[in-house]
Amino acid sequence: MKDKQNLLRTLPKVDKIIDSLCQKEFFKDKPYQEVYDAVANSIDFFRKGILNESIKTFSIDDIENEIVHSLNKSLEFNFKRVINGTGTILHTNLGRALFSEGLVEHLKNSLIGYSNLEFDLNTGERGSRYSHIEDLIAKVTGAEAALVVNNNAAAVMLCLNEFSKNTDVIISRGELVEVGGSFRIPDIMELSGANLIEIGTTNRTHLEDYKKAITENTSMLLKVHTSNYHISGFTKSVNNKDIAELAKQNGIISMEDLGSGVLVDFSKYGLKKEPTILESLNSGMDLITFSGDKLLGGPQCGIIIGKKELIKRLKKNQFLRAFRVCKMTISALEFVFKEYVDENTAIKNNPTLNRILENIDIVLERAQILKALLNSSGIDCEIIPTKAIIGGGSMPDASIDSYGVIIKNIDASLIEKSFLKQPIPVVGRIQNNQFFIDLKTIHSDEYSIIVDSFKRIIECA
Ligand SMILES: *Cc1c(COP(=O)(O)O)cnc(C)c1O
Repeated sequence: MKDKQNLLRTLPKVDKIIDSLCQKEFFKDKPYQEVYDAVANSIDFFRKGILNESIKTFSIDDIENEIVHSLNKSLEFNFKRVINGTGTILHTNLGRALFSEGLVEHLKNSLIGYSNLEFDLNTGERGSRYSHIEDLIAKVTGAEAALVVNNNAAAVMLCLNEFSKNTDVIISRGELVEVGGSFRIPDIMELSGANLIEIGTTNRTHLEDYKKAITENTSMLLKVHTSNYHISGFTKSVNNKDIAELAKQNGIISMEDLGSGVLVDFSKYGLKKEPTILESLNSGMDLITFSGDKLLGGPQCGIIIGKKELIKRLKKNQFLRAFRVCKMTISALEFVFKEYVDENTAIKNNPTLNRILENIDIVLERAQILKALLNSSGIDCEIIPTKAIIGGGSMPDASIDSYGVIIKNIDASLIEKSFLKQPIPVVGRIQNNQFFIDLKTIHSDEYSIIVDSFKRIIECA
């Protein structure tokens, strides 16, 4: 008891310690309030430690180290870069599609000053923020018209509200899906004011089912890409062409929520077929919605394409004001779509397409570089073949051959936990109790960050 009292008495006073710290180089340029809080928190940390006897002795240097640690922590950004060693290219938890350096450069140039966001440079009068990208998206996708909102969930919601409020929307039971990040078709429908009419069964829906369900109160036939799940075996769904045709005959709207939405036919490059935006349009669907930050490889947004007169109506819906995109999105999306004017340019420059379609030898090369760097730092590791995943709700069962570097002789869960605490955290995978990094999603400036993190972990272990 007496020891505790003595120790507590040797703790410096907050004001005193601040005065002496503020003379030091490290603290000079730091915000005073942050320094004050770090000092107060650190002294409190030591006081509690002394009282519960976890701290039995300390020096003034120990306290200063704690203050520096606490200050650094509070000055850090919460939202920051993370190294993705999972091999999932479009990882919703890790930020989905990446921006290229060219895109970031373009964003900087267009955002550092004022812009013509809602200003028509031809007339000198008020313009529309949507005008910058409508024609470009229409040209690249082959649609009559286009509209961009905050995300695909908003796109679906806006369309349902405009065209199907208080009327019936027919959808196959097999397509009443929940997509990652809590997008549930039945819930979105309810919010939009549309009545959900389920038809068919979980595994089989026929054209007859659609025909029988259509009444005077039907406004739309909705098709939803089942994205992240797949049923196989005794299944049947109705193709887009038949749905679009049936809608036309009945004077109602056909719409497809395509989810990922890809402009490039992957099957041309030896990958599994993913229905393209163009194919969906050609099948006669009136409206198609898809995400901007999935397979398109752009910023978060929802893109609606289709018939001109329908898009025109959407522009007058009050929800559009709530779902509108910011100037960052418009700037980034224009850049991304400009690259798509020439498919080869997009494949070369768009990080998402680039990683999906790159040659396997390039991935092996990355694995060899990482392995050599780790080996030369005394870390035992090996190259293994892996299956990378495209992700983003596309092609759930399609994987891409890849390579990983697996770490030997260090406890996997220790690596996993320690990596997350690094200044630039590294997220990897564990398989058979061994930690590995999939090189599909590793970039050339990340090798040294990974190696340095390993060195720190080993020093601490
Ligand atoms: C991903 C997805 C959504 C949601 O898109 P967000 O852009 O994340 O809002 C909706 N529908 C389908 C079919 C999807 O795959």
